[in-house]
Amino acid sequence: MSNEPSQLIPAERALEIVLGDAIANGVEHVTLQEANGRVLGEDLASRRTQPPFDASAMDGYAVQQQDLDTLPSSLKIVGHSRAGEPFGGTLKSGEAVRIFTGAVVPEGADSIIIQENTRADESTVTILQGIVPGKFIRKAGLDFMEGEVLLNMGDILTPYRIALAASMDHARLCVVRKPLVSLISTGDELVMPGETTGAGQIIASNTFGLGASIRNTGANLLDLGIVADTREALRDALMEAISKQSDLIVTTGGASVGDHDLVLPVAKELGFEFELTKIAVRPGKPFLYGKLKVDERFIRLAGLAGNPVSSLVAYNVFVKPLIQIMGGKSPETVQMRNAVLGRDMPENDERAEYMRATLTLGKAGELVATAFDKQDSSMLANLVRADCLLYRPVKAAAEKAGQPCQVVIIE
Ligand code: AMP
Ligand code: MG
Repeated sequence: MSNEPSQLIPAERALEIVLGDAIANGVEHVTLQEANGRVLGEDLASRRTQPPFDASAMDGYAVQQQDLDTLPSSLKIVGHSRAGEPFGGTLKSGEAVRIFTGAVVPEGADSIIIQENTRADESTVTILQGIVPGKFIRKAGLDFMEGEVLLNMGDILTPYRIALAASMDHARLCVVRKPLVSLISTGDELVMPGETTGAGQIIASNTFGLGASIRNTGANLLDLGIVADTREALRDALMEAISKQSDLIVTTGGASVGDHDLVLPVAKELGFEFELTKIAVRPGKPFLYGKLKVDERFIRLAGLAGNPVSSLVAYNVFVKPLIQIMGGKSPETVQMRNAVLGRDMPENDERAEYMRATLTLGKAGELVATAFDKQDSSMLANLVRADCLLYRPVKAAAEKAGQPCQVVIIE
């Protein structure tokens, strides 16, 4: 039994409902090679001090400052220190150790003289120019200390952070498990690009736009393809998504209340309980959000409208932040920017509207958003041509060109 709301829910409230009890997935361990772009699942402390010893930053000679009072000063070369092969002994007054970048500064040395400021033969080096003590020595711990927490839970593992984690001596990293998102494209009229279309058929585009978006959000995609508008076909597809332990099922099409709109009734038969069925947004009014509890965890379902623009806009507003939370990221809710209207706008009704619009720069450097004439939610080329979505709040009054408005930039 369920008692899903049948009235229009405002977009802000709908977002609260969708994100309300969303939590990050559990963690798993991956190698550094597999960590790129993943989300760190724990605070990470260094297992080492870096550099672990005082190291030379230059090629030259390790010496004692007290031998440099009068220059030139000739010193006996008593050994070598190379990266990975330290000089074993202790340097005494009157002595120098030939040293290279990255090598351990020998015991007893306090200065590095770069080789350009010396003259040397096999056994003796003549220091021609002095140096402030300590220059060209990287002190142990210059970069970081053992035990220091340098990366935090929730950090996205960028290449630089992966390099740092490696330097901290972590071979494997604890990361948040990627959400598994199943995608089901419903519609008898749908045909894959490149296939033969029959009468009344169109190409499935949402499948690809949403699939790419889901992957870009950091989820694993299980694309269950095109599913016919029959209860059996839809039930099979939903059951496959459930059995594969999807964290989220995204459907397109069949989300409103027509005779062929089966997502709500079939998902309810399978036990999903719905918290949203319609939201006060254009495009994207039919929007289903429900949950099925399986073994103490939820499988969530977001049923998007079939119209391409509706599905992509609803994805960005509602589904993307949900997937981000499940993936351990902070949710990027859609950000509004201030602009001014490029043309007069009529009064708006009870649905907030995201209108496809161009952006230009006005005389004072302000953004000017000019809505296209045609706003049909089936028009993908229009969406791609647009620079932004011009937001019109619920019941916005008629407004003149030049008046302030808000836009969502399309990246
Ligand atoms: P529906 O929500 O199923 O009533 O579909 C609304 C409109 O979107 C119809 O014109 C469908 O043909 C179209 N549509 C549905 N699914 C897709 C899809 N995957 N790709 C492109 N258009 C679609
Ligand atoms: Mg349909």
